[in-house]
Amino acid sequence: MRCAGRLCAPTLVVVPLPSRDLTASVIVGSGLATAGLRDRALDVLLDPALAAVVDLVCWPEKGQVHVADSRGQVALGPDGTTTVLAGRDPVADQDPFSDEGYPFASARLHSLFADPRAPDLAVVHTGAHHWPERGGHLGEHGSLNALQSRAPLLLSGAGVTERGLVERVARMIDVGATLTHLSGGALDEMEGRPLDLVRPAAKHVVGLLWDGAPSGELLKFAATGALPSVARLLERGCALRGGAIAEFPSVTLVNHTCALTGVGPGVHGIVHNAFYDRVSGEQVVPNASTSWHRAMDWLRPGVRTVFERLPEGVRSACVNEPVDRGATYSTFALIREAGLGSTGGLSAMLPAAVDDAVATQQHVSASTDYAWSTQVDASGLEQVLELWREPEPPGFTWWNTTLTDSGHHAGGPGSAISRASLTDADRRLGVWLDLVEARGLTGDTVILLTADHGMQGAEPGCTGDWDSALTAAGVPFRDEAYGFLYLG
Ligand SMILES: [Zn+2]
Repeated sequence: MRCAGRLCAPTLVVVPLPSRDLTASVIVGSGLATAGLRDRALDVLLDPALAAVVDLVCWPEKGQVHVADSRGQVALGPDGTTTVLAGRDPVADQDPFSDEGYPFASARLHSLFADPRAPDLAVVHTGAHHWPERGGHLGEHGSLNALQSRAPLLLSGAGVTERGLVERVARMIDVGATLTHLSGGALDEMEGRPLDLVRPAAKHVVGLLWDGAPSGELLKFAATGALPSVARLLERGCALRGGAIAEFPSVTLVNHTCALTGVGPGVHGIVHNAFYDRVSGEQVVPNASTSWHRAMDWLRPGVRTVFERLPEGVRSACVNEPVDRGATYSTFALIREAGLGSTGGLSAMLPAAVDDAVATQQHVSASTDYAWSTQVDASGLEQVLELWREPEPPGFTWWNTTLTDSGHHAGGPGSAISRASLTDADRRLGVWLDLVEARGLTGDTVILLTADHGMQGAEPGCTGDWDSALTAAGVPFRDEAYGFLYLG
């Protein structure tokens, strides 16, 4: 047994976890690195000298997932048991409502390591870690903790049985199950469960994903009047106080895929925005402007999207979303069909951000990311309006918003630019809600609003890099997406 850091107390504590965590999974991933090599890497990563930037290190071992930091190590069993191997349990707080903890840590880690594409070691950044030299921002996500994992989850309209803030929490895989259930599709082989806060009663089902919009901020601003369109949704529905917890890692494409397939990364196979495929021996980067249009090429065989589960004859629309397989209308299908090869080819065709009446122009002129996302989202709104002006709007519409992620990366939660990104998204939502109302379709429509992860502000002074420490120690490795270590 390897001990974490200097803490080798032979304590053994078995703690049963709540039944919600009893997601059994078979670990087939990893195990390719030798134990000796892994231990050398762990000696470096768990050194207290790196504790300010390394929150956790996680790896599969003999059917369990081990989680360690510089002060302790546990083995998480597939049956929900926790065995403390050294020191204290670094993920002891798995309360899904706590902002300090690691909601559903065991189930989420087991899901990741069920896929052979998973790394030998997953290194989790601390919330404070700032890594601009490696592409990090003031606002970041990707970690296992609650702040970076908690997306909002609101339900509004026909069939929603609750009002206001409800004392509930869901997982991202439940989003796919809920949308499928509401649309009359088959739920077989889904890991997620449909929320019982809404029953199928609407002719039109709409899923809205505001990328990177944190649950806490969204609910707070809706309550204070800063997001009047979100407040409009809440008048006819409810929000889960615990939101929707992203699967791990809490990054974009992993969770867009969870939300639209109802299964975790261990089943759908898109284990990160970038990863290493040991079988093909190649680096895979499905989440980039050059590869979004073919992201579905990496979906594991047999995995079906919500679009593919809809009853025959139900028309669907997938706006600005890479996870689009089976959709009747899809932005990225148009890109593929036009042979543009990437969203870069579309840039010249997007509406100009400076002419956008709903955009916060102060940030459009100050930030190229904000300006580009404004163009993309303006195009998204145009597409949605066109689809909903048809005599019969789609039975299922999925509308992805990207500006909210750009704004939160740029300034972190609570910044002026992140707040502006939410208000701009809210105004675009309002334009569409007005159309739905004007056409008399409100009573026939149910809306689910979520995101793909949360967001946390980094501390600019908290810098450091485990890769240079591993290199200095002579450990051979490749680090994909800054945290997925493939050894040897
Ligand atoms: Zn995202």
